[in-house]
Amino acid sequence: MKPFEYDALPGRIVFGLGKRTELANEVRRLGATRVLLIADPHDDERLQEFRELLGDLCVATFTDVAQHVPRAKASQAIALAREFEIDATVSLGGGSATGFSKAVALEMATPQLCVPTTYAGSELTPIWGMTEGDTKQTGRDLRSLPATVIYDAELTIGLPVEIAGPSAMNALAHAAEGLYAKGANPVTSLIALEAARVLYEHTPLMCADPSDIEQRSFVLYGAYLAGATLAVAGTDLHHRTNHILGGLFNLDHGKMNAVVLPYALAVNKPAIAGPYGRLSDALGGDAASAIFDLARRINAPRSLAEIGMPADGIEQAVPLVVEASQKDVWPLNEIQVRNFLRAAYEGSELYEAFLGLSNSRTES
Ligand code: NAD
Repeated sequence: MKPFEYDALPGRIVFGLGKRTELANEVRRLGATRVLLIADPHDDERLQEFRELLGDLCVATFTDVAQHVPRAKASQAIALAREFEIDATVSLGGGSATGFSKAVALEMATPQLCVPTTYAGSELTPIWGMTEGDTKQTGRDLRSLPATVIYDAELTIGLPVEIAGPSAMNALAHAAEGLYAKGANPVTSLIALEAARVLYEHTPLMCADPSDIEQRSFVLYGAYLAGATLAVAGTDLHHRTNHILGGLFNLDHGKMNAVVLPYALAVNKPAIAGPYGRLSDALGGDAASAIFDLARRINAPRSLAEIGMPADGIEQAVPLVVEASQKDVWPLNEIQVRNFLRAAYEGSELYEAFLGLSNSRTES
């Protein structure tokens, strides 16, 4: 057996329908009395409900949340946190709201309680991200790891299928890539395979009947497992590419994940035979093809062109992805990256993603 290292991460999970009603108790459990509530503006009624649930514990609210955490907006949230001398943040929303909470926590060293309403999984990780100009910076810092997460699938019921499906594929990407990213270990791989199985089975069922709370719960559970994998195993080609494209072209994170994942797996397939085979077993067929087909079945976007990437963006991104990929399990060259991005841009059938790839990489 291969030796491994495992830095297990702390964190309290409260999972179940209606569990948001325990919010105030969970905040007190953190020893906090002055909360900044950070919420994305998707639902005013929900925001009001959370203000009431927090009562006197809520001293300020920030709702100017945007994807990829623009630095200027994050600075406003931090200024608010300072002004009100907060001692904790509560986030309500998707990965973007969580991202703002992390930005505040990094600066103020305050604990975070996150209540996710998508399947992005950021609430499980010590990974922060911030965008300045067209560059998205990410880093790993334990101060940005949320202390408590409340998973309440009732909060996801209003998430439209066009967002929910790709968001679930974002979670699937955490599980898939978590099987071969550099931090993977036997324990995270167990969790990743279960996450992939649950997400692959329940995402189409949830998309077919978005009001089915049981399916919503399963997908949220899968997203939790996938986020826990990402938090320890880390990321590889797929996520690095998404961060670059997200920064350059401000593409929607969930949709980008749905498009890029099968191609990232396809280009890596010759080099990650072991994890790829285990993922294929969990999904019941060739992993990249199964995921490509899942995107089709749930009507998720299948090309970067479709989600707004400009055609000349491929050449802009190639050198950045080549450079970033040198940190990956299998570093890619310029031809490989161009091929990979072009295939994802066009939404080409998967076999094209293999064209021009070197066969010289050794298998793991
Ligand atoms: P998001 O948070 O931007 O949400 C997408 C859209 O869904 C928004 O318009 C939001 O208002 C809406 N929405 C959210 N919940 C809703 C609900 N229940 N009902 C109706 N509408 C709802 O997108 P996301 O995909 O959740 O998160 C993306 C961001 O998270 C990106 O910036 C990404 O980089 C980051 N992320 C970070 C990590 C990490 O570990 N640091 C992991 C995953 C994602």
